[in-house]
Amino acid sequence: MGMRSSLQMGRVKGIPIKIHISFLFILPFFALVFGFTFVPDLFGFRLGFGDLPLDWPGKLGLGLIAAVLFFSAVLLHELAHSIVALRRGYQISGITLFIFGGVSEIEKQPKEALGEGFMAFVGPATSFVIGVVLLPFWLLLREETGLVSVIVATMFSMMSFYNILLAGFNIIPAFPMDGGRVLRSALAKRMGFIPATRIAVAVGKAIAVAMAIFGFFFNIWLILIALFIYFGAKEEERSTLVGKALEGVTVGNIMTRELSVVTPNMTVRELLDKIMREKHMGYPVMDGDRVVGIVTLQDAQGVPASHHYDTEIRSIMSRNIIAVSPDTPAEDAIQMIARQQVGRLLVMEGERLVGIVSRSDLIRTLEIRSMEQGIATGRG
Ligand SMILES: [Zn+2]
Repeated sequence: MGMRSSLQMGRVKGIPIKIHISFLFILPFFALVFGFTFVPDLFGFRLGFGDLPLDWPGKLGLGLIAAVLFFSAVLLHELAHSIVALRRGYQISGITLFIFGGVSEIEKQPKEALGEGFMAFVGPATSFVIGVVLLPFWLLLREETGLVSVIVATMFSMMSFYNILLAGFNIIPAFPMDGGRVLRSALAKRMGFIPATRIAVAVGKAIAVAMAIFGFFFNIWLILIALFIYFGAKEEERSTLVGKALEGVTVGNIMTRELSVVTPNMTVRELLDKIMREKHMGYPVMDGDRVVGIVTLQDAQGVPASHHYDTEIRSIMSRNIIAVSPDTPAEDAIQMIARQQVGRLLVMEGERLVGIVSRSDLIRTLEIRSMEQGIATGRG
């Protein structure tokens, strides 16, 4: 999930609290729904301010208060995850509120699922407790008829209902919901992490398919949620398997050390000859012993043939150097390549270029390791 487009709002217990750009649309949307719709009795709850004898700014204001309270409760849910994670020594880079609620960015997801279950469980548990604690206030006030009392009662009713709903939704045993992690943790005690991930992913996909079919007949919104669950489950499986296969492998283990480099004043013609001879797809560009860029076959392809002799590498190279150190975990390198959409990373020890690692080096290592460990064949 791209979390770059978010704004930081503040910090709680040292954890940065951010809002994603989508939140700027979702908050007014919730305010409108809460303020202008009305459901008189859903499982005994009164939802929305739409029926009250108020003008539109009044309804919008109440809707906005309800939306802010609701997302504060989402934040408490995420804080519960993050605080347990922090206590167990995981790094938290932040909590981001976005369109589907909240996401805690725990920097390293636990590789062993045993500690994961509780960490996942505390989120829905927090939402459930908030919902249950607010319930008696609604029950006490529900018979009142004065306008202010009805407003306060409705607020309690809504916050109780939506927090219990949030708890119920998140405890569904499907990735990427918390329930998926709780399920994996329970399974992993018996069968190990990888088989447990596989089963939890399969359960998640089955739930998503069932939800989509049900949604097709009854509520079209469920199809959207089903898609979110299906792709979330797939992504969890992929990242778990990659992480497990590359465990303990560093960039230094797999990088190419025999460096072939080019200089900024070489021509495109000379570069193409070199590519032809050496069959590398990209080269670091060195000015003396300093790396100044990286140039690939693709960069050269942008130059018309008539200019191959008079175009220097310095004018086509990319100056955006993405470097890692030899002890960077291979898993992190794969993520960097995917995120930055580059083909290769330079491996630097301080200022010194010591190697280069390409997307194909990483994929090859991943395939070999998966095969060796029997991950691809399901022997776990
Ligand atoms: Zn959660």
